[in-house]
Amino acid sequence: MFRKTSGSILCPSCGRLTHAAAPVCLVCGRRNPGMWGFAGPLRQVFRSWDFTNAVTLACVALYIATLVFDPASALRPRGIFDVFAPSNRALWAFGAGGAIPWQAGHWWTILTAIYLHGGLLHIIFNILWIRQLGPEVEGCYGPARLVVIFTVSGAAGFVVSNAFDVPFTVGASGSIFGLLGALVAYGRRRGGTFGRLQLQQYGQWALVLFIAGFFMAGVNNLAHAGGFVGGFASGLALSLAERRAETTVDWLLASAAIVATVVGFGFALITAFAH
Ligand SMILES: [Zn+2]
Repeated sequence: MFRKTSGSILCPSCGRLTHAAAPVCLVCGRRNPGMWGFAGPLRQVFRSWDFTNAVTLACVALYIATLVFDPASALRPRGIFDVFAPSNRALWAFGAGGAIPWQAGHWWTILTAIYLHGGLLHIIFNILWIRQLGPEVEGCYGPARLVVIFTVSGAAGFVVSNAFDVPFTVGASGSIFGLLGALVAYGRRRGGTFGRLQLQQYGQWALVLFIAGFFMAGVNNLAHAGGFVGGFASGLALSLAERRAETTVDWLLASAAIVATVVGFGFALITAFAH
């Protein structure tokens, strides 16, 4: 059921049409383009699996988990920005980021912190942006490349803010700026009227959002800048969906990003509950 060993498939190296049973791809010469029947289904997995929904679900589940972890603290009313705010202790346990865990060798926090949020407004705001921009980036680059862009830019944002000693930080906003950066890169590379409009629109959004960050308390502006650069660079490095279908390299990178994130949460919880 899972394997596709006959008929036409897209080559997992060059993304062009070829035969599942062909010994070499007629376009690029790749050996065994059918990957023993697994090339087609692998492409289908990334195509049918909605990363934007998965991220939404992960953020909401982890937000609830961090609230439940320390309910007394979460329910203590503080201010409008701290409504239903998980305690720092709960966020640490699930892999909060910042210079402190980074210097303690907790490398995984540059991935896990992407999915953690410090309050109700924080998570609502970020999820709305992810749901707006995720499908856009998927359309321009492809589903596996969206995973790569989201993960690389979130991590890049935290690497930058760690380098400047921001002690404690959580949230997907580095990744959100990365999605904007990738859309700006797309507009630049694509050119023409559509490309120019794309570049203008997302460039403006990024600029307005970036400036707004300086007028709100507790915003990690360095992670915003780092995330944008990470997303822009990823957008320049990866192929555009309309120019080349996703290939083995994209699937491997996306799988590596997902595995590293899941393993990171494992490390975070083991570290937290081991003592
Ligand atoms: Zn090929």
